[in-house]
Amino acid sequence: MTVHGSWTRAAESAMLLGADGTLSQTIFAEMTALASRHGAVNLGQGFPDEDGPAEVLEAARQAISDGVNQYPPGIGLPVLREAIAQHQRRFYGLEVDPDTEVMVTAGATEAIAATILALTEPGDEVLTFSPFYDSYGAMIGLARAEHRTVPLRGPHFQPDHDELRAAVNDRTRIILINDPHNPTGSVFSRETLELVVELAHRHDAIIMTDEVYEHLVFDAHHVPIATLPGAAERTVSISSGGKTFNATGWKVGWLTAPAQLLQPILAVKQFLTYSNAAPFQPAIAAGLGLDDAFFAAASATLRRRRDALAEGLTAAGFAVQLPAAGYFIVADAAALGATDAHDFCRALPERAGVAAVPLTAFVHPEQRESVASLVRFAFCKRDEVIAEASERLLALRS
Ligand code: PMP
Ligand code: GLN
Repeated sequence: MTVHGSWTRAAESAMLLGADGTLSQTIFAEMTALASRHGAVNLGQGFPDEDGPAEVLEAARQAISDGVNQYPPGIGLPVLREAIAQHQRRFYGLEVDPDTEVMVTAGATEAIAATILALTEPGDEVLTFSPFYDSYGAMIGLARAEHRTVPLRGPHFQPDHDELRAAVNDRTRIILINDPHNPTGSVFSRETLELVVELAHRHDAIIMTDEVYEHLVFDAHHVPIATLPGAAERTVSISSGGKTFNATGWKVGWLTAPAQLLQPILAVKQFLTYSNAAPFQPAIAAGLGLDDAFFAAASATLRRRRDALAEGLTAAGFAVQLPAAGYFIVADAAALGATDAHDFCRALPERAGVAAVPLTAFVHPEQRESVASLVRFAFCKRDEVIAEASERLLALRS
């Protein structure tokens, strides 16, 4: 039986469809499977290997005991929407109405999906930066929109402002930024954020911002684009409890947006999941209310792990640029002979007992050459796991 359907569009746009029509797994699933086959330390898929704060875990247990086990409202439980609104005020001075401008989603992934499906028509352009997180390409494809990209070039992975200006036009429906950025860990400058707002106004585009690493910034404070003058009125801001509270499997995400943008996104969410994660919603609400010391410690711990992994990678022969935020280091493996990052990562679990993901999975095929020796390593792992990976990677030198 030949199975037709728009899955091919998603798979093609996420670059998972082979020339012979076969569907491959996402790069994260592929490398996680390889890691377990070879007993490798998995620095590929970005998930922490220890639990988040005890209060948050306990709040989830309590919610289950208290019977918070049936469908919550599609827009999310009031306790979490309130907590999100308070979080926006506390950290960023942003005022959002918890009843009309906040919506809970099944991870940031559903917020991304619902926003793109709700706000684009076939043929509209969606602009992302490149490299880009895989679900952006897939959802733009499913929505039958056009995916344009502006490159982020190393070593600091910032966009060229002239290239950005040239890429936005009256067909641009959404400018999608990911700040802090996966996979590069870069943080946009204020000038770049200002230019995005200016271009969105000039071409009447919506700004969509994926800020799942908002609390994992190492040397500065996160600046949400929605805080810039003129931005909030046309911005959909997306985040998730997964990274901040080491709970990626709970899939509790959210978005904030003006009511007129949120309404159509909620309409789409009703038919994606309807609602999600009832007992985890109060737990994430408890997390958002933790004191400043928790948030400071989360980024300080991760910063220490970034530095340890950077040292290990450098000792093994990679060229490393320290990321400003997030879970990942991009390392250049050219000196270790890498000419095709995907091949390099397919071999790495067996060769060195460590798994990573190639940057080629985050760019369109015509841009693969520009990232051919770049590999992403996750450092959201326990200190001893990073030490073990660093030790193993030394084998690459011999
Ligand atoms: N956006 C980015 C940039 C991510 O890195 C991730 C997950 N690593 C997601 C979205 C998905 O978040 P969630 O697990 O909450 O769906
Ligand atoms: N976002 C995670 C990463 O970048 C992976 C999530 C997934 O497996 N889809 O590693």
